[in-house]
Amino acid sequence: MSGSIVIAVDGPAASGKGTLARRLAAHYGFAYLDTGSLYRAVGHAVRQAGGDPSDEAAAVAAARTLDLSRIDDKAIRTPEAGEAASLVAAIPSVRAAILDLQRGFAANPPGGVPGAVLDGRDIGTVICPGAPAKLFVIARPEIRAHRRWLELNNSGSGVSEAQVLEDIKERDRRDAERAASPMKPADDAHLLDTSDLSIEAAFGAAVAIIDKALG
Ligand code: C5P
Repeated sequence: MSGSIVIAVDGPAASGKGTLARRLAAHYGFAYLDTGSLYRAVGHAVRQAGGDPSDEAAAVAAARTLDLSRIDDKAIRTPEAGEAASLVAAIPSVRAAILDLQRGFAANPPGGVPGAVLDGRDIGTVICPGAPAKLFVIARPEIRAHRRWLELNNSGSGVSEAQVLEDIKERDRRDAERAASPMKPADDAHLLDTSDLSIEAAFGAAVAIIDKALG
């Protein structure tokens, strides 16, 4: 058993969990893994090859040959890649194919650091159910849509805010209703609502929760 300390940060799209998780990793000197980027990379790879992200054989093949270098690829940050990610993520064999990779990262974080922060949808429930600190980050859908729309607009996308809201609601529904590892807070997760919090305030609240949880 490794002595790695795991902080699980789950929550819906654009809840602020990514920003928070990255900052928490820097604060505690831990490694960081954005597990959504794994599903995005798989969905994107299937699309790039001209396939359908709902096609199990194509999605599993992409998951088994996942190229970790893709996780920095700008192409996986588009709304289309997010949509493809949520389709491949609903396939149990895809989730199984990248399970060990996530658990391996958590147990033996790169660089020999003492812990890891993983963000996603099922970190506290399935990937690392024994994590000593779990956050489930939420925000009202309209707030999340506005944040995501600002981000997309900054990168030159002409998408409307109403469309972003619709996409977010659809993704929430699919992520929460799927049979395989649905998005839900672990029983021992701490809910953090960032709707009315600045990034600074959300970070402060998260650190207070985690410090307490880690004793
Ligand atoms: O977090 P992000 O928006 O990048 O995630 C993209 C999609 O990947 C999510 O909508 C979800 O369907 C899937 N995902 C998942 N489990 C995770 C992380 C992401 O199912 N741990």
